Amino acid sequence: MTPPATVAEWKTYGRLWTFLRPYTKRLVLVLVISVLSTGLGLVQPYISKLLIDDALLRNDMRALIWIAGVMFVAAVLGFVLNILASYRYVQVSAAMLFDMRVALFRHLQTLSPRFYARFRMGDLMSRLNSDVGEVQRVSADSLLSVLSNVVFFVGCVGMMLWLNWRLFLVSVVLVPACLLGFIHYQRKLTALTKQLRERSADLGSLFVDTILGMRVVVSLRAGEHEANRFRDRNDAYVRTMLRVQIASFMTGALPGTILTAATSAVFLYGGWLIFRAQMTIGTLVAFIAYHMRLLSPVQTLMGMTSGLASARVSLARIFELFDTPAEVREIPNAVAIEAARESIRFENVSLRYDRAPVLRNVNLEIPAGIFCAILGPSGVGKSTLADLMVRYLDPDEGRILIDGRDIREVSLGDLRREVILLDQSPYLFNDTIAANISFALPGATPAEMEAAARAAGLDELLRRLPEGLETRTGERGLALSAGERQRIALARALLRRPSVLILDEPTSALDTQTERLIATSLRGAMPDSTLIVITHRPALAEIADAIVTIENGEARISHDVRSTAHA
Ligand code: ADP
Ligand code: MG
Repeated sequence: MTPPATVAEWKTYGRLWTFLRPYTKRLVLVLVISVLSTGLGLVQPYISKLLIDDALLRNDMRALIWIAGVMFVAAVLGFVLNILASYRYVQVSAAMLFDMRVALFRHLQTLSPRFYARFRMGDLMSRLNSDVGEVQRVSADSLLSVLSNVVFFVGCVGMMLWLNWRLFLVSVVLVPACLLGFIHYQRKLTALTKQLRERSADLGSLFVDTILGMRVVVSLRAGEHEANRFRDRNDAYVRTMLRVQIASFMTGALPGTILTAATSAVFLYGGWLIFRAQMTIGTLVAFIAYHMRLLSPVQTLMGMTSGLASARVSLARIFELFDTPAEVREIPNAVAIEAARESIRFENVSLRYDRAPVLRNVNLEIPAGIFCAILGPSGVGKSTLADLMVRYLDPDEGRILIDGRDIREVSLGDLRREVILLDQSPYLFNDTIAANISFALPGATPAEMEAAARAAGLDELLRRLPEGLETRTGERGLALSAGERQRIALARALLRRPSVLILDEPTSALDTQTERLIATSLRGAMPDSTLIVITHRPALAEIADAIVTIENGEARISHDVRSTAHA
């Protein structure tokens, strides 16, 4: 799936509220401390006015000592409060972002295989890692700073107005030019940042694709071609990055330079007021100090917008994942079920992916407790039929019933406990064989695990391995053969003792002999369960109680196995 266009508006930040809410009290406290500390910073230029006008120009020693004392206390207290606010703030923001990551991780678990088949893996990784990281980085060092800078800015303006409002008007004549320049470059920056993020996701998905497909790349000698693809995407990334740099510099530096130039006007007008005895020297000194300080919050705020713009893009990309609805959802008041005792029935089931319909009006009843084989050439929809039974997908039309109940009304947890699907190419975690098997049932005893392993035809392999169940399976199980991976996954499924077990081409990597052995030992291990085996090999079908054949999107079941198997 090509990700939809990311809309990164300021209101994206509003959506953070959901995650902020649990921390409002702590956050308000942090903000109050921060405002206090900023306020202490604001009084310093005023203290210098008192120093000049009340102490120095009057030769007043007592006032001098007093003023020096106030200055000292204000500085130290401001410092302490500042540290306290930053520390508490980072604590709160880290906790909040942790909540967000967990919520995202949970949400991703509800999305269907259809989503994962289409969404680029590299893009997903970049959203989970870089984008959440970016939000964390920016929120850790900028948001608090936005607040204190705004307070500082407003405070400075207030003090300047109070000291001399005419002088203030002179000092801000160039501000509109400043703002225009700023807005222009800021817009540019947002657009470029979004582009940069997409380029980076392009690079990431190329990595993931090439690494996952390394065997194909190597065997087809496509290394050079892949390197060229990488070079192209990397060039595009670097070009965009340089443009972001320029825009970011202009956004920060241009308005600052204009403001500094405006200080000369303050010198001229303020000096003239003093010559005419309309203002004290201390007032002008304090005023210039405020004017100079005005630059720093403005520059910080403007410079920060690049960080905020980039975090906003990241946030939008994260929320886009949150907004991807789960296709398969549990209804409120879902019904609990126990073992499937009667049948699994398909009623007028139709399903299409984005192309032509795969299943058309399928009607089918598989009685409970039988060994049923599903036959059909590759691509007819066998795996799709299996996905429907465990609700990895829901049908577009029609319904599927377990013991007469629509599986959409059944609790998802119960359904997936009773009906287990063993994938065509099962996934193993990079861990030991034991850990992979007991993943299905964390508290499983060694005896249970061994029984499952035996029923899955693993005992021969385990005898051969010096470390037995403690052998490591390698990344995605690639340190084992395909057949071994399949048998481990089968043991994992058996451990759960489902009442319906669906095996999707479980024996494609096994010879006919082993295939039959496993089929009979399966029956022995699960005497009452419904076994549904998808296969395109007649050997398994011969020992089945019933055979389902799929053709042109339609399915039919035959209980007269011999004639069907040999047809
Ligand atoms: P089988 O297991 O019988 O080989 P599948 O059920 O896997 O077949 O697929 C049936 C058809 O649906 C195929 O033509 C396949 O290309 C298509 N298909 C499977 N999964 C997807 C998907 N996620 N998106 C689009 N088409 C799909
Ligand atoms: Mg298949």
